[in-house]
Amino acid sequence: MPIPMDARKKPASLKVHVTTGEGVEITWSDGHGSRYDFPYLRDHCPCATCNDEREKKAAQTQGGAVLPMFKPRVTAKSAAAVGSYAIQIQFSDGHATGIYSFEHLRELCPCEECAREFR
Ligand SMILES: [Zn+2]
Ligand SMILES: [Zn+2]
Repeated sequence: MPIPMDARKKPASLKVHVTTGEGVEITWSDGHGSRYDFPYLRDHCPCATCNDEREKKAAQTQGGAVLPMFKPRVTAKSAAAVGSYAIQIQFSDGHATGIYSFEHLRELCPCEECAREFR
C-alpha cells in the first residue's frame, strides 16, 4: 500500500509513550508536530462501534443537558504499527479495534492550525 504523498499526512517520526501514558507524538514530513493524549484518541476512535456510540450520544444530548459521567483516565496497554499507514492502539479499557491511519491522525491534530485546515 503506497504511503500518501501529501507531506502533511506522512509521519517523519512517531513515538507512542505507552509506559509513561503520555500519549502519541508525531512529527510530520512538513515539519509540523502533533501531540495526542490517550483519552483524546479513545474518544476519537474510528471504529464502527465507536462511530455508532458517538452518533447515539449526539442524538441524546440534543434533548437536554447530560451530566458528564465519571470515567477513569484511559491509557494504552500497547500500540502496534499497521503496515506503514496506520497504528493500532490497545486501550486500558480493553478496546483495541480502532485503527488510526496517519491521514486520520493528522486531521485529528488538536492544534488550532490543523483544526482550521482539516475540520
Ligand atoms: Zn472504537
Ligand atoms: Zn496540528
